[in-house]
Amino acid sequence: MVTTTAQAPTTPQEDPLATPAPVQGAAPQADAPDPFDGPVMPGHLSPSGAAVYRQCPRRWKLRYIDKLPDPKGIPALVGTFAHKVLEDLLALGPEERTLDTARVMARDLWPATAADSDFVALELDAEDQRRFKWKAWLAIEGLWELEDPKKVVVRATEQRIDVHLDGVPFLGVVDRVDVEHDGIVIADYKSGKPPKPRYEGDKLDQVVLYAAAIEQAFEERPVRARLLYLGARTIEVDITEAALAEAVGGLSNTWSQLLADCEAEDFAPRVGPLCGWCPYAERCPEGKAEVTRRYARGLLTPAAPAVAAIID
Ligand code: SF4
Repeated sequence: MVTTTAQAPTTPQEDPLATPAPVQGAAPQADAPDPFDGPVMPGHLSPSGAAVYRQCPRRWKLRYIDKLPDPKGIPALVGTFAHKVLEDLLALGPEERTLDTARVMARDLWPATAADSDFVALELDAEDQRRFKWKAWLAIEGLWELEDPKKVVVRATEQRIDVHLDGVPFLGVVDRVDVEHDGIVIADYKSGKPPKPRYEGDKLDQVVLYAAAIEQAFEERPVRARLLYLGARTIEVDITEAALAEAVGGLSNTWSQLLADCEAEDFAPRVGPLCGWCPYAERCPEGKAEVTRRYARGLLTPAAPAVAAIID
């Protein structure tokens, strides 16, 4: 039988808990700062992260630095489900991209969505689940109102890109990279309402950034980028030097401001109507006051999630 005997330290310095610590230097004094304190810097920026920061720096901090949960509501889950079905559909050969195939795919994918923790947390009854399915199906079916999927030449779906744009570590997932007669085209599905014309440019920023990232990653500049508002309309932009410079410049500015906030550990609240849909309103004094004020004036619907969380 082999027995082992622990070796007793021969000198006090060999005790790893000795003071001073043997390797790492002096043991912390009672007034030493918390070693885990200090700025936390983000590793990358995605278009959605940049949009959250521009909407409200504090909301960005709570989500991306503190990593507090941001559960998806019905619209986001409908969008995720429709995206998944269309991703799988467009990965098939052109002749297989039919409504019947999409319906079968939706049926097969449904159990996974129904079991998703965000979906379960919604606690939808049978009637609400039926309505959810209809919303998702109308979004899926809405692709045929915008284009004939059989005629789309797809180079890639769900293309992940991880590049540096003007020094910003950029991370994104492109729904589709298509091939058209004059070059490659970025396409991104949207299941919400299309924006008013004056906001179209802001919305298209996301796909212009994807175009910049695709060019960086594959050394091929897309000719166009478009948003497919399922069941509604398409908006698109030509990819020019000026369009790329504006979108990447905006991203770079956001990144600089965001890093300055991280260094200072100071993230200003930006109150407004969207506080009513902020998952962190309860823990944000300014946002809580804004939700209370807006609700009292009839400016926020009782259905807004923050109203339900804050107002008794
Ligand atoms: S409640 Fe309003 S101000 Fe507070 S974090 Fe959310 S969006 Fe920002």
